[in-house]
Amino acid sequence: MQDIFCSIISGDVPGEFVFRDEKVVVFKDIHPQAPVHLLVVPVRHVEGIGDADQEMLGILMSTAHRVAQEQGLVDGYRLIVNDGEHGGKLVPHLHIHVLGGKHLGPKMVREGDAI
Ligand code: 5GP
Repeated sequence: MQDIFCSIISGDVPGEFVFRDEKVVVFKDIHPQAPVHLLVVPVRHVEGIGDADQEMLGILMSTAHRVAQEQGLVDGYRLIVNDGEHGGKLVPHLHIHVLGGKHLGPKMVREGDAI
């Protein structure tokens, strides 16, 4: 299955990469929701958390932390994984959002979305 992130990884669609190796890439989100908004993405097409093995999940998480430090997010950051329809996932390729660069506040959902 080919999706927009596969196309960015293959170079068919431009992406602003901050890290890449044979297993994981990190590039800037096209519609940033914070001063720093990165996407940590497995090179191999994996749709969701349930399709990834523990090794890959560990690599994604540790890569997210490392790039956050490299991008200067020393005062903290937020990681988000949207999964499935209710989770608001739009791109069907597993990814971790890394958000930071300002105080993001305590809320995990927007005011009007809370139960
Ligand atoms: P999701 O809701 O699936 O977790 O989020 C997908 C994210 O991918 C969104 O934040 C969106 O802005 C980002 N995105 C969608 N298309 C592109 C693209 O072509 N390039 C980049 N860099 N980001 C994209």
